Amino acid sequence: MKKKSMFTPEIVQKLSRFRTPFYYYDVGLLRETLETLCQAAEQYDVNVHYALKANAEPHLLSIIREYGLGADCVSGNEIQRALEVGFPPEAIVFAGVGKTDLEIEHALEADIFCLNVESLQELQVIAELARLKDRIASVALRINPNVEAGTHEYITTGREEDKFGIPWKDVPAAVELLQQTPHLRFLGIHFHIGSQITDLNVFKRLCLRVNDIQRWFRQQGLPVLHLNLGGGLGIDYDDPDAHPIPDFASYFQIFDRYLERRADQTLHFELGRSVVGQCGALITRVLYVKQGVERRYAIVDAGMTELIRPALYGAYHQIDNLTAEAGRKSFTYDVVGPVCESSDFLGKDVSLAEVRRGDLLAIRSAGAYAAVMASQYNLRDPAGVVFSDML
Ligand SMILES: *Cc1c(COP(=O)(O)O)cnc(C)c1O
Repeated sequence: MKKKSMFTPEIVQKLSRFRTPFYYYDVGLLRETLETLCQAAEQYDVNVHYALKANAEPHLLSIIREYGLGADCVSGNEIQRALEVGFPPEAIVFAGVGKTDLEIEHALEADIFCLNVESLQELQVIAELARLKDRIASVALRINPNVEAGTHEYITTGREEDKFGIPWKDVPAAVELLQQTPHLRFLGIHFHIGSQITDLNVFKRLCLRVNDIQRWFRQQGLPVLHLNLGGGLGIDYDDPDAHPIPDFASYFQIFDRYLERRADQTLHFELGRSVVGQCGALITRVLYVKQGVERRYAIVDAGMTELIRPALYGAYHQIDNLTAEAGRKSFTYDVVGPVCESSDFLGKDVSLAEVRRGDLLAIRSAGAYAAVMASQYNLRDPAGVVFSDML
């Protein structure tokens, strides 16, 4: 089967008019992804909250909002952004190991659905702030289930010694506090074990742990009305054109099969990367081609300041030469940016149709964790943003 490319000659023609570097978002693909996601969510009767930290571009958020998703936020400013684009407060969840007093106060005032609490001390602070405001805080306990995500060290969050979530040894004290404090309303339990997880067995292991944990809660006399399993579903960075839309149905099916779900329980997910990852690309222009002793460098006008994933995680992104006409020979390049750091590369040992000064390259699968992690290091200008529905 011939794969469909995101970049037809007409689109490349239109893109070549914009000043580089810029993020390009294929809104049609985002909509198809959301349709697939919503169908699967309905089939398995689950609620999906979009994790704003993957990409908080207002135009994309309002499209995501159109499809009825909730929002998953990890800062007060993300809650603010979610409210601004019209996510209803009752569909917003708020996680994060370091919520400030001000962020907690704003969350209480906005009356969001749930604060996912990540430590015993945070629970005490929330109880105190709710008491002072004479409000009832709706909370879920984010529990560290000690499940290996099998992904990159830096995006693994659910092992015993990771900083995220309440360690199991502290859970009994948290339960005692919940039972004694009228200003806290216990909604349920929350987990998020990591990101870019491609082995679905990892989620099966999570389910089995969650079953034990919720049984324990029931024994303590605390009904768990909401189960929030977090996010983490991976995307295909190796071949985005072969798998532009993640297999949401298989993902939800794992939970349907292995999680003991009671009739009165709702299931929640917080998906970020899998919603927006494939619809974005970073478009950059080749400034220079330099032949080293053994390596050939394509020096481009985007770098770690626009896409830090290769530098931060050694992440792979497919790179396409959009300009090259058929028949150009392929060579192996290191695609590097202009920033004064040796870690400033977008790809190493990349096979590309011969690269020439002025060519446009697309760094693929850059819809998630790219623009949101941008910096102005070296006093670089912020990159532009182009949407397919505005071309
Ligand atoms: C980052 C994050 C997510 C989203 O993770 P993805 O891998 O992008 O799906 C969900 N929940 C929490 C608490 C997070 O921190």
